[in-house]
Amino acid sequence: MSAPVVIIGGGLAGISAACHLAAKGFRVHLLEKSSRLGGRAQMGNRLTLGCCTSYLDLLDMLGTRHLVHMQRRMDIAVAYEGRLARLKAVALPHPWAIAPSFLRYPFLSISAKGAVCRALLRIAQGAPPLANETFAAWLQRHRQSSHARRFFWELITAPTLNSPAETASAEFALLVFREAVLAGPHTATLGFIPYDGVRLLHPVNEFLARRGSQVQLCAPVERITEGCENSRFHVHLKNGEVLKASTIVAAVPHTDLLRLLPPRWRQQPCFSRLSQLSRRPIIDVILAYDRPVLTEPVIAIPGLPALWIFPKQPEEGTQQIAVSISCPDELADQEAARIVRWTHERLATACPAVRKASLVQTRVHRHRGATFSVAPRDQDLRLPPLSPIPGLFLAGDWTNTGWPATMEGAVRSGLNAAAAVSQAAPK
Ligand SMILES: Cc1cc2nc3c(=O)[nH]c(=O)nc-3n(C[C@H](O)[C@H](O)[C@H](O)COP(=O)(O)OP(=O)(O)OC[C@H]3O[C@@H](n4cnc5c(N)ncnc54)[C@H](O)[C@@H]3O)c2cc1C
Repeated sequence: MSAPVVIIGGGLAGISAACHLAAKGFRVHLLEKSSRLGGRAQMGNRLTLGCCTSYLDLLDMLGTRHLVHMQRRMDIAVAYEGRLARLKAVALPHPWAIAPSFLRYPFLSISAKGAVCRALLRIAQGAPPLANETFAAWLQRHRQSSHARRFFWELITAPTLNSPAETASAEFALLVFREAVLAGPHTATLGFIPYDGVRLLHPVNEFLARRGSQVQLCAPVERITEGCENSRFHVHLKNGEVLKASTIVAAVPHTDLLRLLPPRWRQQPCFSRLSQLSRRPIIDVILAYDRPVLTEPVIAIPGLPALWIFPKQPEEGTQQIAVSISCPDELADQEAARIVRWTHERLATACPAVRKASLVQTRVHRHRGATFSVAPRDQDLRLPPLSPIPGLFLAGDWTNTGWPATMEGAVRSGLNAAAAVSQAAPK
């Protein structure tokens, strides 16, 4: 029996590569350093979109798609200074479904709405951005006011790209609008991942075991070295175990990949330049109030840093509100108490019901390297699944999928790696 494909990293990229390879008849050995699968996707409030078809297909494969609560139609509540508006699709043919709520949307003037529609039309027509154009430059070129930017464009791109328009590549921003908002009647529906999203991945072990493959948890890989003729690589685990492999899929974040490679490979320009691909933080804040305060399942608060609010069901007279803060930049270095105060004040300004409530419990989770940079200049640093080292394949949201750092991007990267392995396999 031939040696299994060794997959390093049990995040969504590694899981996707493993499941797709196993489904094609390859034996795989998935190594994950922590005690459970899922990587960055395993905990916290996560949203997906109807257009994230590769991610949803993977959940179908695992039989857990039903655990994602998908809206029937897109419905986003937007709160600003005590007013609550909705961007909501109704039962009209695409693309008119969102038109009635957009026309009523109180935070934009008629002329700003006209300019937004003209710019959306340009995106729908497939007009590409200029080379290396930032989203801010694109918005300016399409005569979008700062108001339109704040209350429409960045409302969507700040959380999806985790980057303000000044630094985000226009290419990714347009992708979000083309694939989600404009592509079809259900592509912009939100899918809520349960807080313990790791449940979605429970069947991975069984899925792989049924196909003669295995998952090894608590198995940090320390380094990869060159092997001999019948096994190209030696994979050294921290516990001293050494696995022989001819094919490896490295599905770890780019910063971890560099630590695994032998110095001779690391010096290759494609790898050595990877350290320039920077990462950006996200902050999750949990605020528990002494009374129920919000009824919407999700609320967006315009402005930067961007706040998306996930109120939980009230329990015993109290309510927990999970807040995901993207583009937090300087906020990420502040003390936890300051972050809590800032978040509560923004929430209270936007939603009057919060003003009268008292905080009974708070928690702050800082994810310093949450997502990779989507700045235009950084996109050339991303690598394809086929590395310059024969037998070494790459996956991870940071690889060259054409998508920003999302669960969809991670799953696509695993699919791409699986296709590359299968193409390179002796027939
Ligand atoms: C706070 C936060 C909120 C987010 N919100 C959303 C959202 O709402 N929607 C969305 O689509 N995306 C969201 N994302 C992005 C999304 O979670 C990631 O893009 C995606 O999960 C990345 O998957 P990955 O497999 O590429 O990497 P990872 O999830 O980082 O997986 C890499 C795995 O490799 C393992 N590993 C690393 N080194 C080794 C080693 N030496 N040996 C063995 N194993 C190793 C790690 O433990 C990890 O499990 C969010 C990310 C964060 C951090």
